Amino acid sequence: MEQGSQVPHVIIFPLPALGPVNSTLKLAELLSLAGLNITFLNTDFNHDRLVLHSNILDRFASFPGFQFKTISDGLPADHPRAGDRFMELFDSFKLVTKPLFREMLCSGQLNSVTGDSVTCIIADGILSFPIDVGHELGIPVISIRTISACSFWAFFSIQDIIEAGELPSRGHEDMDRLITSVPGMETFLRLRDLPSICRTNNLEDPNLQHNAYANRQSVQAQGLILNTFEDLEGPILSHIRSQCPKVYTLGPLHTFLKFRLESENALLQSLAPNSIYKVDKSCIEWLNAQPLKSVIYVSFGSITILTRDELMEFWYGLVNSKKRFLWVIRPDLVTQKDDEGQIPMELLEGTKDIGYIVGWAPQEEVLAHQAVGGFLTHSGWNSTLESIVAGVPMICWSYFYDQQVNSRFVSEVWKLGMDMKDVCDRVIIEKMVNDLMGEKSEVFMKSTVEMARLASESVSEGGSSYCNFNRLIEDIRLMSMTAIK
Ligand code: UDP
Repeated sequence: MEQGSQVPHVIIFPLPALGPVNSTLKLAELLSLAGLNITFLNTDFNHDRLVLHSNILDRFASFPGFQFKTISDGLPADHPRAGDRFMELFDSFKLVTKPLFREMLCSGQLNSVTGDSVTCIIADGILSFPIDVGHELGIPVISIRTISACSFWAFFSIQDIIEAGELPSRGHEDMDRLITSVPGMETFLRLRDLPSICRTNNLEDPNLQHNAYANRQSVQAQGLILNTFEDLEGPILSHIRSQCPKVYTLGPLHTFLKFRLESENALLQSLAPNSIYKVDKSCIEWLNAQPLKSVIYVSFGSITILTRDELMEFWYGLVNSKKRFLWVIRPDLVTQKDDEGQIPMELLEGTKDIGYIVGWAPQEEVLAHQAVGGFLTHSGWNSTLESIVAGVPMICWSYFYDQQVNSRFVSEVWKLGMDMKDVCDRVIIEKMVNDLMGEKSEVFMKSTVEMARLASESVSEGGSSYCNFNRLIEDIRLMSMTAIK
């Protein structure tokens, strides 16, 4: 291992949402295990919640070269950051966080625990400003995207879709139109499967414009890290490589880290998931009492919000399916709180017999539990990867952003489940749950078991993600030597 200033000092700057923070923390732990000095730059808002609800500080205490630093996301503490309001962060980042980041780098506030300056920045590619700042200050930057390769490629192609005249959308009746200008997806991608920001009839829409621009910017960095694996997304990755030759696929990161810790005999308790909500572990006891593969796990991640009507449709669909279910209802999942307390008696009675509801679950543990046989998900990329690793088939009800693309790939390309996007109807939910947990389970079982095998192979010694990680470390060392000079 290098000594003193020869040790690369990498600053990691994630997108401030739970999924991206979680997967970049896993990368931070892997890089720390490889002996690099790491500064993890989190927004004040997310850091405070992580510290409150997880063992995050203890978990990294064993790495002497690791430190957390925080930065303002530019919004007041009580400003909502879920649902549609999430996109407001991008304006405040530009105004507040970008100049702050530059100042922190220049003033030495982000120097390593040993006092060394930053020799490499790994930043979420959608926050394009760290690339600008890195270029300005002569610090190499590697982008990380914590979305799937297929959704990244769809975002990347937005400009081409517009130029081909396939956007804007002409409204609801237009949603099944085939989009033919995304290379590799010509035969199955419909308008409804494009990233949700494309659902506008205004080509000047700021969200559309920002994403079309920022996703192209990702490849201005010296490399691109993706939390995926070659056997899952090889054909799409070859399209991405035509634009960005240095792509490091390191996924599934959560499995990679687990394997690394096991092989180093490190404490597995350090794997306790990071959370911005209080984890309710009582659901594991409940699962312990359920038969093999009898439970459908229902969770919509950390940002999705439901209307009260949608909540009711899901609830009736689940109860009417008569399948056992474990459902995560976050404290801020549902809008229109004023109707609370008026849950129909039949639902409460129906749930008592077959359902269990928690505010936040230990998801990886839940998906790995033998009682779980299906996952009704919003198709967030971390949830999708966690389900793939656990070999659990999915019903996808995508909410926004990259999830529309993921759910199409789950059903049409990987054959790992069914896509229910844009429909929230109790009869359909009931039918899909019954199909997934009943007559179609055999069909999906074959593909889910095989993909789970390939996922674990990719992070094992000699696997594609394993080798790419070693290549990344080498490249960071080389870049850092140039930066130090
Ligand atoms: N998660 C969890 N418990 C829950 C629900 C979600 O630990 O009750 C975790 C899940 O394991 C995943 C993350 O939250 O790692 C959600 O990330 P994803 O990318 O799926 O969705 P997002 O929250 O970004 O929409």
